[in-house]
Amino acid sequence: MKENEDIAYSRALVLKHNTLYKIIIAILLILIFAVATFYFVFVNVNKENKENIDLVYPSGDLASYYKQDTNPTREVGIAQMKIDYINNCNFSICYPEVGIEEIDESILSHAKDLKRSFIESYNSEDENADIFYEHVDYRSYIDPSNTMRLVFVDCITNSDGIILTQKEYTHVYDLTNGDELTSYHKIEDTASKVSILEPLDGEDVSSFVFLYSGDVLKFATTAVNIRKEQSTNSEIIGTLNEKDPIEVRSGDDNWETVLYNGEVGYVKAGYLSRKKNLHKEIELEILDRGIDPNKPMVAITFDDGPNPNSTPRILDTLEQYNVVATFFDLGQLVNTYPDIVRREESIGCEVGSHTYSHKNLNILNDDEIKDEITNAQEAFKKALGHEVLLMRAPYGNANLKVKENTNYPIIKWNIDSLDWKTRNKTKILNQINKTTNFDGNIILLHSIYGATADAVEELIPQLLNKGYQLVTVSELAYYKGYTSLLTAEEYKQFRSK
Ligand code: ZN
Repeated sequence: MKENEDIAYSRALVLKHNTLYKIIIAILLILIFAVATFYFVFVNVNKENKENIDLVYPSGDLASYYKQDTNPTREVGIAQMKIDYINNCNFSICYPEVGIEEIDESILSHAKDLKRSFIESYNSEDENADIFYEHVDYRSYIDPSNTMRLVFVDCITNSDGIILTQKEYTHVYDLTNGDELTSYHKIEDTASKVSILEPLDGEDVSSFVFLYSGDVLKFATTAVNIRKEQSTNSEIIGTLNEKDPIEVRSGDDNWETVLYNGEVGYVKAGYLSRKKNLHKEIELEILDRGIDPNKPMVAITFDDGPNPNSTPRILDTLEQYNVVATFFDLGQLVNTYPDIVRREESIGCEVGSHTYSHKNLNILNDDEIKDEITNAQEAFKKALGHEVLLMRAPYGNANLKVKENTNYPIIKWNIDSLDWKTRNKTKILNQINKTTNFDGNIILLHSIYGATADAVEELIPQLLNKGYQLVTVSELAYYKGYTSLLTAEEYKQFRSK
């Protein structure tokens, strides 16, 4: 029995030894695995990161936390986060994923740029080097014209939590086509409270439509004063030159509230545009018809056509005297009467856009204004095979918002025949003939009234007898010394330059 017990005991001992052996092996294996993992994950990845600046995804928990972000200043995209450690540099960035490939790629490349410059400035292989942290947060805004503004707030701190630098980088994207419209950098000088907006990489802060959420960046359309109060008598706290950027808080029809040197100020409404380059040069296209620039000339313009009754009558008269005029036609009617528009052009007249359907552009939103303009553009292209160069706004109404949405020089007039009001041949002629010197002037008529067609039959020989050359608007501008006109600029006459 005792012997049996001994055997049993020694067997148990052997069993115990076996278990112990297995545990030791397991611990050794785990240790080897841990060391290998540590080597590959930290040492190798960090080495790679020194050449390749790729970002590393954080653990699932952190990422999903940011995806649930409901921060009101993050209007666009699902929040994502990436974290990385390189030597003494700790990096974390939040950024939005928009779901548009071009934009998401661009956002990531901007994020990598921030990380790269952080590492370039602070990275040290010295084990005793100070530790630095970069945290990049963001705000993202959307505007009615489907533009997105992404603001990266880049904050670098040391191990004591002292902020070393804090910078804002703004990128503006067109959500329709994925293009990056502009980038700029806000430099805060906390000592003087000066905030400067500077284009990134020397890139031009080019024309773009901006947003309504948060502060809005606008540009001065001309040199303009910033006032302390909402009054032109109030103290001037600063001056903007043409195209200078300024942050706008809010505004009404009279005054825009701006932020200048950390101070709130006011700028008269109408002098700040969302577009830096409101004006683009449009080359004039002139055929040599033997116009003498030294002799007086006048441009007759006809709006609201083409009309199947009176426009052909007006064209007959122009043809009879071998003279030309300018027709500001409506896209909708151009689609209906393309032959009349083609005839206007075939006898040497100029055709311009009077928009698509004669809406008061001043009360429309950006998209509606653009529709009125581009739908007309399509109609002219279809009827004439090319775009037209000039535009006249219905009722002459073109406020700043209209100008921001047009690619045309805006042609007004300085002689109103009032044909739309009197619709009487004699009254139309009397009204026009109140003017004695027509040189360089633009006369407004409408090609939709019989009375206007009647008046034109007398007006044209009268002007010719007085020695005036009848020219198109483009010709008038050209022979008065303008080789090009500016988009969004209003012209109501052309005097010699
Ligand atoms: Zn009109």
